Amino acid sequence: MKKITIAIDGFSSTGKSTLAKQLAQKLQYVYVDSGAMYRAVALYVLEHKLIAVKVLDKATLIDHLPRINLAFRYNESLKASEIYLNGVNVNTAIRSMEVSNTVSTVATVPEVRQQLVALQQHMGKAKGIVMDGRDIGSVVFPDAELKLFMTASADKRAQRRFEELKRSGIEVTYEAVLDNITSRDHLDSTRKDSPLFKVNDAIEIDNSNMSLDEQFEKVLALVNSKLQSITN
Ligand code: C5P
Repeated sequence: MKKITIAIDGFSSTGKSTLAKQLAQKLQYVYVDSGAMYRAVALYVLEHKLIAVKVLDKATLIDHLPRINLAFRYNESLKASEIYLNGVNVNTAIRSMEVSNTVSTVATVPEVRQQLVALQQHMGKAKGIVMDGRDIGSVVFPDAELKLFMTASADKRAQRRFEELKRSGIEVTYEAVLDNITSRDHLDSTRKDSPLFKVNDAIEIDNSNMSLDEQFEKVLALVNSKLQSITN
């Protein structure tokens, strides 16, 4: 069976990674969470104190870029890939609110984007990949056979993310989560380099009132019809 590239973009906390993981598992494709890569760079920035009072020291970060090594390694017991920053597993550390509040500023730096996009394109060379992010259908894989653009109301998204963070033991208020989501959406959609937007050939999925199963069935039907159209 021919393999395709699936690009999933959309606003923060729209369930992109949940859907991407489900698809990758069903199709036996590789799943790449590109947001985790930006988060790992943001963690590096925080650890090296390259940001103070929301002002990022871009020049030093650009200098440090060759020293930032990112890799995904498969965790057999979790049945999932985890991200490593310079050899250290940072899969949990990148989910902190501190990282969430820094990442979109770090993601505005063109040199950071160039480095990560090159890595992402390399990972997708053999196709058979599902990648989620903000610029996957527009910049990383403009030729992807299937492009999805996910949305949901800000309130629904904040509620879901709040529950998820609470479940993983991260102390946070609903208001802080909503504030983080809306400010990231704003920064991500208005930045100069590779802003978040829905490309013409992407299919929009608004999951405000959709269950995970409904969403998965709908998207799987899209994948199957795409696979059929390219095999015929
Ligand atoms: O996907 P996630 O919400 O974890 O992404 C965190 C942040 O990383 C986004 O808000 C965005 O600023 C940045 N990002 C990006 N381009 C991508 C993926 C993520 O700019 N392809």
